Amino acid sequence: MYRIIIDRSLCSGFGSCAELAPEIFELDGEGLASVRVGTSDDAAVLDAAAACPMAAISVIEEQAA
Ligand code: SF4
Repeated sequence: MYRIIIDRSLCSGFGSCAELAPEIFELDGEGLASVRVGTSDDAAVLDAAAACPMAAISVIEEQAA
């Protein structure tokens, strides 16, 4: 399980994350990324975090409770 955190002060709204994992990330009305879900099992979150040019996405791996 991955917990996803976006530092919106770093986000520049390129949208790479939303392209790679649209079910997890979306661009809001301000053009900044926000998370649709706080946690996911989808490894696409790692790709999205790696693809972010601003390194605004943190992914923390958590053990399922
Ligand atoms: S890839 Fe990074 S900079 Fe681009 S919208 Fe997503 S969080 Fe923001």
